[in-house]
Amino acid sequence: MTVERPATPPQKQPLDVEDAIARVIAGVARLGTEQITLAEARGRVLATAVASRVSLPPWNNSAMDGYAVRAADIASLPAHLRVTETVAAGQFPSRPLAGGEAIRIMTGAPVPEGADTIVRVEDTDAGITAVEIRLNRDARKNVRPLGEDILAGADALAAGVTLGPAQLGVLAAIGATAVEVFRKPRIAILSSGDELVTPDRFDEVLAGRKIVSSNSVTLRELVIEAGAEPVVLGIAADTKESLREHLGRALSPPGCDLIITSGGISVGAFDYVREVLEELGASLNFWRVRMRPGAPIGFGMLAGTPWLGLPGNPVSTMVTFELFARPAIRKMRGHSALQRARMTVRIDAPITLGAELTHFLRAVVTRQRDGSLSARLTGPQSSGVLSSMALANALVVVPRGTVQVTAGTELQAIPLGFDAEFVLPPEAAGV
Ligand code: AMP
Ligand code: MG
Repeated sequence: MTVERPATPPQKQPLDVEDAIARVIAGVARLGTEQITLAEARGRVLATAVASRVSLPPWNNSAMDGYAVRAADIASLPAHLRVTETVAAGQFPSRPLAGGEAIRIMTGAPVPEGADTIVRVEDTDAGITAVEIRLNRDARKNVRPLGEDILAGADALAAGVTLGPAQLGVLAAIGATAVEVFRKPRIAILSSGDELVTPDRFDEVLAGRKIVSSNSVTLRELVIEAGAEPVVLGIAADTKESLREHLGRALSPPGCDLIITSGGISVGAFDYVREVLEELGASLNFWRVRMRPGAPIGFGMLAGTPWLGLPGNPVSTMVTFELFARPAIRKMRGHSALQRARMTVRIDAPITLGAELTHFLRAVVTRQRDGSLSARLTGPQSSGVLSSMALANALVVVPRGTVQVTAGTELQAIPLGFDAEFVLPPEAAGV
């Protein structure tokens, strides 16, 4: 049964966004490390530097298909040299190169001792037993020296590097089969609200009684996209018992590294999340931030596990995830760069804002012919309009204190990722 309680008075001093973000970042710790295979390692952060046991390339090798010669032998042109052998990639020359000789050599094949030049085949008559060299623009060129890429004993990758395709290629090339990386955070996701159902109960939505808990979906996908493992705890009812039971599941073994709740954290009569957490012994770091969307945000610690309480409005949930949860997850994952780089955009039409808060406005940012970025708002900025989030590729940040933004004003914007870094060709973008 739902018991109504008097609304909790709001915290006296809401925090500025940057202060609140800094507190969340300071309040979470980098996780421990684990050994994993290269096949599982994409996106993870290296915990220790990886030294190479081999030099790459392992031998001086040819950068061209052509002829290994001595530069001195091709000083006057045309030069006629005896071809002593052909060396393909995967083979080795049988003896050093002597004066007046050439070795026919393929890209990647070891360069014989005595040779300082690879003449590309295009500059010769391509002979098999004897060759005529017609140009000497390659004199002392096209030999890739042993260790040019990586030297044996040196660090091929430093600690803290994020493992993408290039880094994994380097690790494979030096024979690393497993790597020590920071653990992947497990993030418990709890939605709360008596009005919410899972999508399989859509008949109740059709009947006009319930709405789908879209936050369960957006949060799960955001967590995965941020490189963490979601542990979806379902939907708690707006009762203390239900919240207690669901939060208990977040803490029961194997536990999680961060609890994210959505909803139930404002000043409504049935917003019990904070109260239940406090009853469970949680320490509250802050509640309420001077921002829109998303003012009621809570952060604290519950039995050693950080808790981030996001507001329930679907846009507020996503925006506050971006600002607070993503950097926290990145810190836990071992990254040093925690926040997305912001970009300067020009606002295309005037904006009037209602409150003295930092605003994060959903916008479509497009690149103009002159290379500058233009931002157009997606329409109504109500925090309930999730479809506007589906249209946006960036959040325009309007600093606190600005109530009027004129067309042409330059502001900062946060790219939202997921396809946002790709630009349309100018004709398609209609610019
Ligand atoms: P609350 O923060 O609980 O006051 O909720 C604010 C608004 O967000 C209400 O309109 C809720 O119905 C809506 N809401 C809360 N949680 C969710 C959710 N998981 N999915 C979709 N909408 C939600
Ligand atoms: Mg609610």
